Amino acid sequence: MSTKEPVPKFIFECQKTGRCCYIRDPIKIFDIDLARWWTDGTFGTVFPYLKLNMTETLVPTEVKIEKTIIQDNEKRPDEEHFNSVCPLLNRETKECTIYSTRPITCKAFPLGYNGENFVIRDLECSGIDKGTITAERLKQIRTAAKREFTSYNRTMTLLPAIHSLLMKELTELAMKEAEAQKEKGESESE
Ligand code: SF4
Repeated sequence: MSTKEPVPKFIFECQKTGRCCYIRDPIKIFDIDLARWWTDGTFGTVFPYLKLNMTETLVPTEVKIEKTIIQDNEKRPDEEHFNSVCPLLNRETKECTIYSTRPITCKAFPLGYNGENFVIRDLECSGIDKGTITAERLKQIRTAAKREFTSYNRTMTLLPAIHSLLMKELTELAMKEAEAQKEKGESESE
């Protein structure tokens, strides 16, 4: 393509099929999501679904939303081609139950950013080339894609440190509890 040829414009209008909430695995969570949820009170809602992935040597590698497996006998007619779903999707209405504070990766989807260019992450997304997109909406999606990209390295750096601190606290708590139980047992046997 000559540099003078116009770059195809990204046009996107969500068709509310919920497809992106079924096909993506994992749904990655970044530090900015956790910080926002902690501040806006959503953390308790998402906490049961968060999972910390770790290597064999217990180094944390990512935080994600654990998807729900859809058993064959539980599938809705429109779920025939899907095996799992984000637990935060209302499967009937196809609406995200935390839409206003959904993860940054969901705000950016189907756009991604690789440090140099924007990329389409799901060419089969039915919202691509549908409707119109305002300059403001395009800017929002691009900003989300760039924020997702910049959050990745930062989150990967922070995770092991946070995990180590938590493990230290939990170990100390467990030792104190064991000590208290031991003292209780000794005083009861006197
Ligand atoms: S958090 Fe919301 S938008 Fe993101 S995958 Fe789950 S239901 Fe879909």
